[in-house]
Amino acid sequence: MSAPTLDALVSLCKRRGFIFPGSEIYGGLANTWDYGPLGIELKNRVQHEWWKRFVSQRRDMVGIESGILMNPKVWEASGHVSNFGDPLVDCKKCKQRFRGDKLLEEKIGVEGAAVLTLEQVQPMLLAEKIKCPSCEGLDWAIAKKFNLMFRTQQGVIEGEGADIYLRPETAQGMFVNFRNVQQSMRKRLPFGIAQTGTVFRNEITPGNFTFRTREFQQMEIEYFVAPGTEGPIFEQWKDDMWQWCLDIGLAPERLRIREHTKEELSHYSSRTIDIEYKYPWGWGELYGLANRSDFDLSQHQKFSGQEMTYTDPDDPTKKFLPYVIEPTFGLTRTVLAILLEAYEDEKLKEDDTRTVLHLKPIVSPYDLAILPLSKKEHLIAKAEELYKKIVQSSGLHVDFDVTGSIGKRYRRQDEIGTPKCITVDFGTLGEDTAQGEKDTVTIRDRDTLKQERLTIADLLKHLHPPTA
Ligand code: ATP
Repeated sequence: MSAPTLDALVSLCKRRGFIFPGSEIYGGLANTWDYGPLGIELKNRVQHEWWKRFVSQRRDMVGIESGILMNPKVWEASGHVSNFGDPLVDCKKCKQRFRGDKLLEEKIGVEGAAVLTLEQVQPMLLAEKIKCPSCEGLDWAIAKKFNLMFRTQQGVIEGEGADIYLRPETAQGMFVNFRNVQQSMRKRLPFGIAQTGTVFRNEITPGNFTFRTREFQQMEIEYFVAPGTEGPIFEQWKDDMWQWCLDIGLAPERLRIREHTKEELSHYSSRTIDIEYKYPWGWGELYGLANRSDFDLSQHQKFSGQEMTYTDPDDPTKKFLPYVIEPTFGLTRTVLAILLEAYEDEKLKEDDTRTVLHLKPIVSPYDLAILPLSKKEHLIAKAEELYKKIVQSSGLHVDFDVTGSIGKRYRRQDEIGTPKCITVDFGTLGEDTAQGEKDTVTIRDRDTLKQERLTIADLLKHLHPPTA
């Protein structure tokens, strides 16, 4: 199966209610996107599956939800005020601005261009004759550091409030609450804190649909360990993240692990890997895994004046700052990778084609669709009765569609990735044995297109929520 073009996916997402351009009726707001009825179902499912796997089903994990607004000192301590920036280059001809490192990565395949100094970026762009993507000019200004944090004001009187930031990551909410969580939950090392939520980065060059946006969602874990034990724990997280990618349906041939070079490591990290996905425009980051050592806890201890140490419950004389392994997952980027992976314009027999999303059942917006064969009232009533029974007994998410020919309805369900369709017909009612026996229905598989006839009783017995 070949990768779809981004345009094909963007068009399906709009047509079928997954993702709409933001503020569209006002001409939009560049690079903002709204999740529609099916997009939010998919996204919620990814998030719930993640939470179930990494929080609810593990004794060593707990979750929190911290605020988007935090004391500005948090961002001084974390290094975001001084370090969280990208090299911005201006095109002197058309005045458009770009991320210099990304231009080098995308246009000539430089790996990890983020390690270049500001002084190196512009000469390299000129030497490699990398033209402005907007006007094709070759007139770059010297690169400048651009801080990606969104700044705003707290307080009701404009100009008098304190400057604060919209959080650029969820991680710091977990660090500042380390002692609260550890003490209230009586947690022993190793243990982790997880949270999911919206973050903001004033990206210089957002784009590629929802790949890089200025408002997005993350699912992050800070896993606290005793110093010296982090090596095997890092490896375990690497395996767990890789397995997660496979379980949500990403193909191993479109996944790879990239180890950061020493020069590339962030100021806080002693080891980082990226899990990369092969997007239609090339390889790019999907997730990150970093060994942050005791950097964050020691910085917060220094800046807040509060003790952030852990006391060994078996030996209270042993007090130390734990090390942290951080697996970080972009939620909105995950949704994009899942959709790209699932999309297929499939050739059927002769000239027939269909668009289908081969979504894994654990993430598809609907588990099932119930399709009454015709709009006859008593047939719809029978189908509605079945709908209620399934929803109440299995907890599955079921679509119910009566509009259009049965063929068109099957195609719509294929396009939104519904794994199975159930057709209720006159056989089901006992009115036409040519269609089937009384109280039987047809169940159609999205991927194989096979249709089977089975009794409603058998169907109900075999329905259960999907598992990875
Ligand atoms: P990149 O190199 O793509 O800018 P990053 O290394 O800055 O990403 P992290 O700070 O590690 O990213 O953020 C954790 C995760 O959040 C990433 O692995 C990615 O999935 C997601 N992410 C980061 N920036 C964006 C963005 N602008 N839009 C959507 N998702 C993002």
